[in-house]
Amino acid sequence: MKDIQYYEKADSSTQKAYLKIQCNCVLCNTALELKFENLGLGVVKEEAHCPQCEIRTRAKIHSLQ
Ligand SMILES: [Zn+2]
Repeated sequence: MKDIQYYEKADSSTQKAYLKIQCNCVLCNTALELKFENLGLGVVKEEAHCPQCEIRTRAKIHSLQ
C-alpha cells in the first residue's frame, strides 16, 4: 500500500517520463511487457520482458512493508 500511495503522490509529468524510459527495450526500443508477481508477505516482484529480444531487462523486488 505504501508504494501505491507514493505513486499517486508523485509528480505526474516526472512519472510519465520515467515510465516511458523504463518501458522500452534498450536494444530494440520495443515496448516492454511488464509483469508484477505477488510473492506474499507484502513483497512484489517486478519484471520487464522484451518480446522482440526475448530478454528480461530487469527484475526488481519491492517490499511494501
Ligand atoms: Zn528488445
